[in-house]
Amino acid sequence: MIAPAMVEAAPLFLKPNEDRRLRAGHTWVFSNEVDIVKSPLTAFEPGATVSFLSSNNQFLGHGYVNPHSLICARVVTRHRDQALDSSLLVHRLNVALGLRERCFSEAFYRLFYGDADGLPGLIIDRYGDVLIVQITTAGVEKIKDHVVSTLQKVMKPAAIVLRNDTAARELENLPVYVETVFGSCPTTLAVSENGATYWVNAASGQKTGWFYDQRINRARLRNYVRDRTVLDLFSYVGGFAVQAALGGARSVLAVDSSAHALELVEQNAMVNGVKDVVSTRCEDAFDALRALREEREHFDVIVLDPPAFIPRRKDAKAGLGAYQRLMQLAMQVLSRDGILLTASCSYHLQWDAFHRILTKTARHVDRQLQIIETGHQGPDHPIHPAIPETEYLKAYICRVLPTF
Ligand code: SAH
Repeated sequence: MIAPAMVEAAPLFLKPNEDRRLRAGHTWVFSNEVDIVKSPLTAFEPGATVSFLSSNNQFLGHGYVNPHSLICARVVTRHRDQALDSSLLVHRLNVALGLRERCFSEAFYRLFYGDADGLPGLIIDRYGDVLIVQITTAGVEKIKDHVVSTLQKVMKPAAIVLRNDTAARELENLPVYVETVFGSCPTTLAVSENGATYWVNAASGQKTGWFYDQRINRARLRNYVRDRTVLDLFSYVGGFAVQAALGGARSVLAVDSSAHALELVEQNAMVNGVKDVVSTRCEDAFDALRALREEREHFDVIVLDPPAFIPRRKDAKAGLGAYQRLMQLAMQVLSRDGILLTASCSYHLQWDAFHRILTKTARHVDRQLQIIETGHQGPDHPIHPAIPETEYLKAYICRVLPTF
């Protein structure tokens, strides 16, 4: 399929010393690290298979290349005699499935998480017998028929949808499209998580329809909400809001700027028998917080789970400001010993910076913080220790008291 015998793949030579990242376990090669005299990038088709060689001809691995992308090549295997073929795909998929089956009793999870599961560029979310696939690199796009047939063979799904409409594809010069490539996928799918059922829109919702990465943090929220008032900002379809209601919250207000997401919050509240507890407000979260502050409203528990405010490194300054404003506004409408769950899914906001903003904001509004728990992406988003980019979700659960 991909390349019959990898030993025959075209060589991609790295410049002197540019093999360090790969040797340390990372899989990415940047275009300025390639020796384009020995191996001109322009000679490769996007997605072609290559063998990585150091400047002194040492074999580093096999993988694929895309001359149009800044990250121009990625390693898939470090075994010289392993071909990038169907059996590799089957094996990687089974290894990934093994982790999920160990962790979860129901078939709702991120089944495959790119680099961390051994195939950069492939994301698969599982919704029971429906698989929603995202391909983010030319290398995987080139083998998409094999990916689909392998999934059919290993997972025996009822439907496979390619949600190939992510921004990452533009960086690889790939077309953006959504296509059901096998079976038929209903417009809305049910997700079962932490004892709740959520209806989501797989073909048009955010990401693949559901954010599996927050599963553990949603479950933890339940420990803090009994008989309390809860504000869920950036609620999307109610992941945190419904958990809070099921955890015995007195009231839950879900705020999102998407009316469509809030319709699903209402539906999800109803399906879980908590519609009397959950209400919605369609508004920009910053505006809603300002209005609530004006109205002198207070909440016992606030969840802040915004979209990535720092999608690219160059957005860092503006993004830091946005996180800080948001935390400040939230602390101002939090009860005297309120609980704040604050999360960031920006890879470019690292733990130390996140911690610093939180501390600084609390000082600024004259509140005393107690960090009770730290949270991160769930086990279906494993972290590759040599690829820092695979770790992105951070959360703190804190108590916010009057200053000591
Ligand atoms: N907390 C959710 C995921 C949040 S996704 C969960 O647990 O599943 C981010 C959400 O923020 C999206 O639903 C999007 O519509 C919403 N959003 C983005 N910008 C916003 C803004 N400025 N104000 C309010 N909502 C916003």
